[in-house]
Amino acid sequence: MEQSRTHSSLDSSVLVLNRSYMAIHVVSVRRALVILYRELAEVIHVEDGQYYNYDFESWLEVSEFTSAEEDHPNENDDWIRSVNFAILVPRVIRLNCYDKVPKLTLRFNRRNLFARDKNTCQYCSRQLALRHLSFDHVIPRCHGGKTSWENVVCCCLKCNGRKGDQIPEDAGMKLIQKPKRPQQSPVLTVKLGNPKYEVWRTFLKGSSLSLDA
Ligand SMILES: [Zn+2]
Repeated sequence: MEQSRTHSSLDSSVLVLNRSYMAIHVVSVRRALVILYRELAEVIHVEDGQYYNYDFESWLEVSEFTSAEEDHPNENDDWIRSVNFAILVPRVIRLNCYDKVPKLTLRFNRRNLFARDKNTCQYCSRQLALRHLSFDHVIPRCHGGKTSWENVVCCCLKCNGRKGDQIPEDAGMKLIQKPKRPQQSPVLTVKLGNPKYEVWRTFLKGSSLSLDA
C-alpha cells in the first residue's frame, strides 16, 4: 500500500473493541488497517449518534463518499491518501472473533510517566519539550529509593542537575504534587483530551482498559 504520508494521520491511534464491544486495546492506524484488510475486524463508525459497522471494502466506499464532500471537510478527520484512493482513518474497530478481555497492566515506562506528569517538571512546574526533560528519583536510589510510580517524576534537566543525588529537602526543592500510580493509562488520558478521539469515550465507560498505545 503506497501512501502519501501525512504525519498526523499515521500517528493516529485506533481503539480496538472485542466482539462484545468492550474496549480492549489501542493500536496504530497501520496495524488497524492490516487487521481490517485481513477481514479480522470491522470499522465502527459513529455518525449523528448512530453506530454503523463496515467491513474494509465498504469502508473504502464510505471514504470515497466522504472524500467527495470536500465542501465541508471535518477538521477532526484524518486521511491516508494515495494516487488511487483515500482512506478515512477509522477511530474504532471491532474484532470479529475475539471475545476475551485480556488482562492488561500499566507499564511503568518513560512514555507513561511523562504523560502522567503532562511533560511538566514536578519541581519547577514548567511544561517543556521532551528534549528538555528527564526523570528523577525523588528519594534517590543511593538512599534506597525505588523505581516506581510513587518515587519517580518528570523533571527538567535544570532541576535534575540541581537536585543530583539529594533528597528534595536537602536540595531545597519541593514537589508540586505527590506522585501516584495512575488509575488509567496516562497516554489514553492525553488522547481523550483530543476531540479526534471523543468517540472513544462511549466505549471506555466502565472499561478497565489500561494500556500502552
Ligand atoms: Zn524543573
